[in-house]
Amino acid sequence: MLITDIKSMKEISEKLRKEGKSIGFVPTMGYLHEGHISLMECSKKENDITVVSIFVNPTQFGKNEDLDKYPRDLERDLKICKEVGVNYVFYPSVEQMYPAGYSTYVIMESLVDRLCGAFRPGHFKGVLTVVNKLFNIVKPDRAYFGKKDYQQYVVIKKMVKDLNMDIQIIGCPLIREKDGLALSSRNKYLSKEERESALSLSKALFKAKQLFEKGETDVSKLKEEMEKIMRSYPHVKEIQYIEIVNPENLEPKEKAEKGDIILVAAFVGSTRLIDNIQL
Ligand code: AMP
Repeated sequence: MLITDIKSMKEISEKLRKEGKSIGFVPTMGYLHEGHISLMECSKKENDITVVSIFVNPTQFGKNEDLDKYPRDLERDLKICKEVGVNYVFYPSVEQMYPAGYSTYVIMESLVDRLCGAFRPGHFKGVLTVVNKLFNIVKPDRAYFGKKDYQQYVVIKKMVKDLNMDIQIIGCPLIREKDGLALSSRNKYLSKEERESALSLSKALFKAKQLFEKGETDVSKLKEEMEKIMRSYPHVKEIQYIEIVNPENLEPKEKAEKGDIILVAAFVGSTRLIDNIQL
């Protein structure tokens, strides 16, 4: 069922909670794919009711980013949600979420200065603010986030802990195409040739993991190998970062250990892509 206003969504959630139903929540920006569907399936398994939100959140986009051209297709998204068996789709307008005079934001003082946060100033402020608002509206017991956006997952878990929110944050596995490309709504921007180059991210990650499993733990060597692979593809325009970090606090490592996360961000053509893998 499609819900487009905040008041109705709040009333529905309150009623469900009074009835003792558990609510699983999957926040998205729409243009849904198998990655999103896997989160919905997780939520369905663990909750009585699943709510999906579709909201392209303007406060998490930088000035020169792709807010206006971000892919949207509500009809297709609703069809997918229906097929998967989602109970409610919350689709609020920007005017409702950020009415004139809006001025309250959630700011984190650690974890957001690095990786994507270093290249997208203000991004996590926007993410944390909207997720907080959505949590207040949907009132979920559990919320599902993909490890595709690994830093986002860690940052949201920390917000929930720091602010004593009664919501369980569940991280779900990153879903890839058969050839390794991490699913993303932004893959739609890629031309055929760029898509080939986009494979360099996962190829570099797989290679680093393979080298680690053969005994290489020197982070600079692993990073060097990854960069070499990525630079060999013609449409990889800018590598923003290649980092190997502790999975909990995102601190960079010098010696890689099992469980660490390797993360990459790069522009392929004019599309910014991210990917990661756990060692
Ligand atoms: P987005 O619509 O891109 O903001 O993503 C909404 C949610 O889906 C976030 O929790 C993402 O981490 C998750 N997600 C996006 N792509 C994938 C993927 N390939 N695998 C798993 N989760 C994903």
